[in-house]
Amino acid sequence: MKFSQKLLLWTTIIIALTLGFSGFYFVNYVFETSLEREVGQALDENNILRFAFETAALNVPVKYDLLQDSSVEQIASNLETSGQGTGRLLRICDEEKNVLYAGDGFEADDELLNAAAENHYSYRVVPLGERYYIQTQSHINALGRSLYLETLRDVTQVFEEREMGFTVYRRLMILMLLFGIVIMYFIASRLTKPIRILVRATKEMAAGDYGYRARQVSNDELGELTQDFNHMSEVLEETIGQLEEEVQAREDFVGAFAHELKTPLTSIIGYADMLRSRKLDEEKSMLSANYIYTEGKRLETMSLRLLDIIVTKKEGAKIRAISAEALFEYLRSMFLPNKSMEFIFSYEPAVVMADVSLIQTVLVNLLDNACKASEEGGRIEISGHKEQGGYRFIVKDYGIGIPAEEVSKITQAFYMVDKSRSRSRNGAGLGLALSTEILALHDSRLEIDSTVGEGTIIGFLLQAEEEAEHEEIHS
Ligand code: ATP
Ligand code: MG
Repeated sequence: MKFSQKLLLWTTIIIALTLGFSGFYFVNYVFETSLEREVGQALDENNILRFAFETAALNVPVKYDLLQDSSVEQIASNLETSGQGTGRLLRICDEEKNVLYAGDGFEADDELLNAAAENHYSYRVVPLGERYYIQTQSHINALGRSLYLETLRDVTQVFEEREMGFTVYRRLMILMLLFGIVIMYFIASRLTKPIRILVRATKEMAAGDYGYRARQVSNDELGELTQDFNHMSEVLEETIGQLEEEVQAREDFVGAFAHELKTPLTSIIGYADMLRSRKLDEEKSMLSANYIYTEGKRLETMSLRLLDIIVTKKEGAKIRAISAEALFEYLRSMFLPNKSMEFIFSYEPAVVMADVSLIQTVLVNLLDNACKASEEGGRIEISGHKEQGGYRFIVKDYGIGIPAEEVSKITQAFYMVDKSRSRSRNGAGLGLALSTEILALHDSRLEIDSTVGEGTIIGFLLQAEEEAEHEEIHS
């Protein structure tokens, strides 16, 4: 059963019970009050009749000491007829409770009479046929006689009114219930609308539509729940997107790795097979061994680079304040002996926040790439300057450049713009992937600006410590 239906059902039950009990109580209360009033009037009437009887008995001519039965009958009959139109019925019994007079239609049994005691009033409500009466009983003392006077007062109307009250109230209650159900139906469906919307949203999400959002239709707790649900969906969508990207990246990586492994291995196996199966002259043997060596070396470089990436990711960076100058000095000492290129250094002194060996790896790779992209004797400019937000390192070459559509891809593992050219220069396609990982640990990234045929500028920003000293340009 739906929540709105449950709500409707329970409200209907509660309304029905409340209306039922209160209606029953109300109608019954009115009935009890009316009956009480009728009882009071019946007792008053009995009293009046008793006085009237005793008065009439005093006026009976006294032939005997005792009031005769015939006189009792006569007085009672007179009293009954004098009350014509009131529906008054009398019964008078003697001391032995034998009936002396009973009005026409006085059919009540002797229960009240048998229970009667002297000087004691009593009454009861009796049903006779389809009608209801209040039967009263009192004691008369007249001319030495001790008689019992009983009256019957017709109160059927009070009972009929009660029945009518119940019927009217029942009809009214059914009408009120129907009206209440219609109103409650709308209220329940309005109140549960956010729940229905959320149920639909969860189903859509379960079916894989992570971009689906629930519409907020109220500002209460359910509205808050909708907001939280949407927020959760956003986080979930983002996380799933990231996970999907990560899985894709891993698949690409494994694919590229297998591919990169295959090429050198094919060469190594091919040349090794040649060496062992045929007797080659010394020059060819040397050539084959050389191929095996260089390809093996490339595999070694690749595995070392991969290891670097894994270790960097795992161990993180030990960032501390270091002098930028020291980094440039290190590069100078590494690259200046290479006389086939023209290296130009220009940098501002500064203290940067970095993991020395990791940043050295990045810079060496950038310089190495610049060398590989340039013709012999090409000019390579390495510079460093302060700027708002930190210290920028820039490596600029005037080499072959990178096509615009390739720029975003060169930081992927194993990606090389020109594979044969890179391989011939011992490239594994991992240098920039490793550099990206390292810079991510420094909250930084590579910024690449390149034009094919003109050259490439690659830079990155590191956090720098504020220095009040004067700035000096070294070159
Ligand atoms: P590795 O660095 O692993 O020895 P690699 O230099 O080929 O090999 P990356 O440093 O990741 O690998 O560079 C990826 C590719 O990006 C290079 O193969 C090259 O095609 C291109 N590239 C990088 N730097 C430059 C540059 N300065 N000019 C032109 N192309 C570049
Ligand atoms: Mg490289």
